[in-house]
Amino acid sequence: MDYSFTAEQKMLKEKTVAFVKQEISTDVAREVDKVGKYPFDLMRKLGEQGFWKINVAKKYGGDGGGIIELMVFFEEISRALPVLSWTAGNVLLYGNNIIQVNGNEAQREKYLPELIQGKRLFCFALTEPDAGSDAANIQMSAERDGDHYVINGSKMFISGASVGHIAVTNTRTGPSRYKEITSFLVDTRSEGYSATPIRKMGYKGSDTCEVHYKDVKVRPDDILGGEACYNQGWHQMMRLLNGERLVLSACAIGISMAVLTDSIRFVQQKKKRTGSLLKFQDTEHKLAEMAAQIEAARQLAYYSAWMMTQQMACVKETSMCKLFCAEMGKKIALMGMEIMGAYGYTMESNVQQFFRDVPILAIGGGTSQIQKNIVSKILCA
Ligand SMILES: Cc1cc2nc3c(=O)[nH]c(=O)nc-3n(C[C@H](O)[C@H](O)[C@H](O)COP(=O)(O)OP(=O)(O)OC[C@H]3O[C@@H](n4cnc5c(N)ncnc54)[C@H](O)[C@@H]3O)c2cc1C
Repeated sequence: MDYSFTAEQKMLKEKTVAFVKQEISTDVAREVDKVGKYPFDLMRKLGEQGFWKINVAKKYGGDGGGIIELMVFFEEISRALPVLSWTAGNVLLYGNNIIQVNGNEAQREKYLPELIQGKRLFCFALTEPDAGSDAANIQMSAERDGDHYVINGSKMFISGASVGHIAVTNTRTGPSRYKEITSFLVDTRSEGYSATPIRKMGYKGSDTCEVHYKDVKVRPDDILGGEACYNQGWHQMMRLLNGERLVLSACAIGISMAVLTDSIRFVQQKKKRTGSLLKFQDTEHKLAEMAAQIEAARQLAYYSAWMMTQQMACVKETSMCKLFCAEMGKKIALMGMEIMGAYGYTMESNVQQFFRDVPILAIGGGTSQIQKNIVSKILCA
C-alpha cells in the first residue's frame, strides 16, 4: 500500500497553494462572504491557470488526474475560501466528473473542452422539498411527448442553478423507486426553467437555489449518457458517490487545517503580548487534539482514496471518512472559537466564517446520519 503523492500531485499542491496566496487574501475571502455573490472573477482565474483540466482525461485535453488530484485541490482552496471549492464543483464535479463517468462519447466531446476552457458551468439537481436524504423519492416528472420529453416539478438547494448553463436534472420516469429515474442535461436557458437563490448562513456566493421547471422541453439526446441510459439515473448517481464523499472530506480537512493554523497563531501572539494562554493546559490540549484529529482524518481520507484508485470496494471507508471529517470540522471550528474567546466571535476573525461554512459538509453529499446508516448496514450485512 502506497498513498504518497506523485511528483505531479506535489506540483498541483504547490500550484494551488501559490494560487491561494496570490489571489485569496483574508480581505478577498471576507469580501466574497460579505457580498454573497457567485465568485466569477476567482472562477475565471482558476480556469485561466488550468485548474479546470486537472480531472479530465488526456484524450480530451485534460491533465488526466483523478480523485487524489481533486482532493489536493479542494483541500487547499477550502483552507482559504470554502465557498470557492463549492463553486469549483460546478466545473470539476458536476461538469467534468459527471460527463466523463456517465456521459456518452458525443457528450464528452461536446462538453469537456468547453468545461476546461471555463465556458460552461454545470449544476446537479437532485434534491426536492420531499427528497433530500430520501433521494429516491424524487417526484419531478419527465414525460415523453412526440419527439421530446417535458419536465415538470421543483428542485431545492441546487448550487449554481441560476448561474449555471447546464442543470443535470434527475427526474422520475416511472413508478419504480430506483429503476425509473432518468437524468437529463437541461439547458438553463430553456423556456420554463427558473432559479432563485436562497439566503444561507455560510458558503455565501454558492448560488444555492430553489428551481422550478414548467413544461421544460428536452430532447432524447439530452439524456445523460444518451437514450440508452433512459431509467439509468440512479445507477449513474451511485457511481459518483465515493468520489463526492472524499472531496467533501478534503474540504473539511482544509477548513480544519485553517482553523488550527489560525488558533496556533492567535495563541503565539497572545503569549508574546501577555505571556498567557499557552500556560492553560486546556488550550494546549485543544491544539493537540485538533492536530491529532486532522492527522487521523487525513490518513483515513487518503487511504480511502487509494482504495478507490485501486478499484477496491470502499463504500464503507468513504462513508466513514465523510462522517469523521465533517463532524471533526464542526468540532474544530468550535474549539478554534473557544481558544480565541471574544475575538473568535467577531466578524474580523477567520474562524467565524469557517464556523458558519463548515456545517454544510455534514449535510451535503448525504448527512452524517445517512453515512452512519450506510456504515452500519455494511457492518451488519
Ligand atoms: C448549501 C447547500 C447546498 C446544496 N447543494 C445541493 C446541490 O447542488 N444539489 C442537490 O441536489 N442538493 C443540494 N443540497 C441539498 C442536500 O443534498 C440536502 O440538504 C441533503 O441531502 C439533506 O436533505 P434535507 O436537507 O432534505 O434533509 P432531510 O432529509 O429532511 O433530513 C433532516 C434530518 O433528518 C435526518 N434523516 C433523514 N433521513 C434519515 C434516515 N433515514 N436515518 C437517519 N436520519 C435521517 C437527516 O440526517 C437530517 O439530520 C444542498 C444543501 C445545502 C444546504
